[in-house]
Amino acid sequence: MRILLVEDDDRVAAALRTALARQQIEVARLATGRDVVSHLAGIDVVLLDLGLPDVDGIEVCRRIRAAGDTPVIVVSARGEVDDRILGLHSGADDYLVKPYDAGELLARVHTVLRRRRPEPADDVVDLGAGLVVDLARREVRDDGAGRSPVALSRKEFAVLALLARADGAVCTRERIVAEVWGRTWPGANRTLDVHVATLRTKLGRPELVATVRGVGYRLGR
Ligand code: CA
Repeated sequence: MRILLVEDDDRVAAALRTALARQQIEVARLATGRDVVSHLAGIDVVLLDLGLPDVDGIEVCRRIRAAGDTPVIVVSARGEVDDRILGLHSGADDYLVKPYDAGELLARVHTVLRRRRPEPADDVVDLGAGLVVDLARREVRDDGAGRSPVALSRKEFAVLALLARADGAVCTRERIVAEVWGRTWPGANRTLDVHVATLRTKLGRPELVATVRGVGYRLGR
């Protein structure tokens, strides 16, 4: 695997390179944002610091997205919530808050890569406590209780399946609406909220669909 690290802090870059080398991950590094797009060939994931000395990280993210579909994980300093939201809205796949450790980064990288791959036909996502989402049979089963499948509408199932495939990563409202409804309209957010509310009630475990304020939803466990 090859990661493009866009990071102006030499110490952060050196520490990451060492940690990732132990996992047989190659790191290409840029200390500025202006040339990122011309360095994307052969890169599996871009790890993008939002605070760069030349170009705004959000702008760099938009350029990467415009140039192709290389996954991007944005990194920002602790507390810069607005940056994180902007990062997701500018096409980033996920975000990390500094300081983070190499293990956390690796988990995010694998999640992002897995999400980009087409799902296997017999994919079953375990929600814990016996509840599973069967993506191939398009049903939610409560294996623990041995009960019949949870009756969800097509859209409710589609929302849950999207969150289940994201494996705990945040799905923005825009993405959920676009993928589940195939279009957007002025009342789309409200409709999504209603579907999520019903989904929570039907699953009987409201915490399974966690709200990420101002961004969207993700699978909680
Ligand atoms: Ca920085």
